Amino acid sequence: MKQELAQDRAWIEIDLHSLENNIKQIKRVISNQTKIMPVIKANAYGHGIIPVAKKLYEIGIRDFAVATLEEGMMLRENKIEGNILILGYTDFSNITLVKQYDLIQTMVSYDYAQKINQMQCRQNEKLKVHIKINTGMNRIGENYQNKEEILSMYQMEHINILGIYSHLCVSDGVTKEDQRFTKQQIQNFFSCVQQIKEAGYQPGKTHIQASYGILNYPDIMCDYVRPGIMMYGVYSNEPNHMGKKVDIKPVLSLKARVTSIREIQEGDTISYGRTFEAKKKMKIASVGIGYADGYPRNLSNQGGKVGINGKYAAILGRICMDQLIIDVTAIPEVKQGDIVTLIGEQEEITVHAIAKRTNTITNEILCRLGSRLPIIVKE
Ligand SMILES: *Cc1c(COP(=O)(O)O)cnc(C)c1O
Repeated sequence: MKQELAQDRAWIEIDLHSLENNIKQIKRVISNQTKIMPVIKANAYGHGIIPVAKKLYEIGIRDFAVATLEEGMMLRENKIEGNILILGYTDFSNITLVKQYDLIQTMVSYDYAQKINQMQCRQNEKLKVHIKINTGMNRIGENYQNKEEILSMYQMEHINILGIYSHLCVSDGVTKEDQRFTKQQIQNFFSCVQQIKEAGYQPGKTHIQASYGILNYPDIMCDYVRPGIMMYGVYSNEPNHMGKKVDIKPVLSLKARVTSIREIQEGDTISYGRTFEAKKKMKIASVGIGYADGYPRNLSNQGGKVGINGKYAAILGRICMDQLIIDVTAIPEVKQGDIVTLIGEQEEITVHAIAKRTNTITNEILCRLGSRLPIIVKE
């Protein structure tokens, strides 16, 4: 995308210094035996998978996690080297692509591994894999108790088991019960790894911590950690970790331009459904961004604000697909073409504030930022 087009109507800015800072902060809390496998699924949580992966590679990261085969292929097509683990399911019909692009496939269950093994046998090939163990999330993975199934995966000749991992489901919880459950999951995972060793197999590289696992259970000694949201410099919800303090900085901001300014009179209404009615004469401005860009429509009439000229302006009426309208009565200097910050550092427009107002987590707000938005990289 040409630079002049990139800052036309609405865009994302990413600050790679903050990304580097966040990686350093993660390194500070984990053991120096442990490596970082950043999670760059969903277009790196809306930040742009390629610029993020390139920067991470440049600062020494050699292992990446993605959710889908396509994300892995995109990394290879953009010349990203290193190990790339697909965390999710890949259909049997596409397994040859996993091999062709030199990716690592998660074995989502024993049955899945068995089928892959048979397919690879016919090709006389060997696929790189990590084994997923279910320790209580009950999403994907072979149950940790199924010793026989797990050991038989290690006997399969056409999968090359490079790692074994699990996922914690309440590592962000602060209640006694959440902590008990998490500790139990960790114990289930390690006892499973121990059984594999006792049976005489090399379990492969171990990993179980995502962002909150790192923050709240930093002392687990695995070969990798898998940070997602914290690497992008934000917490999923209110800072709710009791563990180590880290000084992470948000990587992403969201901007758009003022497209039109007008005055309205008492009694005039704004936008679809006429949900906002002026109580007095007002100056309002339209902004070139809407819910098709991933800016949540639910912010309409929820006290949503944007930043402009270092001040706040309230969003008025319903947010449209490509545009929204703000109150600039108190900011008379605003003119067409001015830049509005929709996600930024000011308190009311952090991704946290937006997630809270729309009753979701920051992860969802970020990863839904649309494909229509160009990404500008600040290096
Ligand atoms: C998405 C994901 C992560 C990263 O989670 P965050 O909470 O964003 O750090 C790690 N592991 C798995 C298996 C995931 O699906």
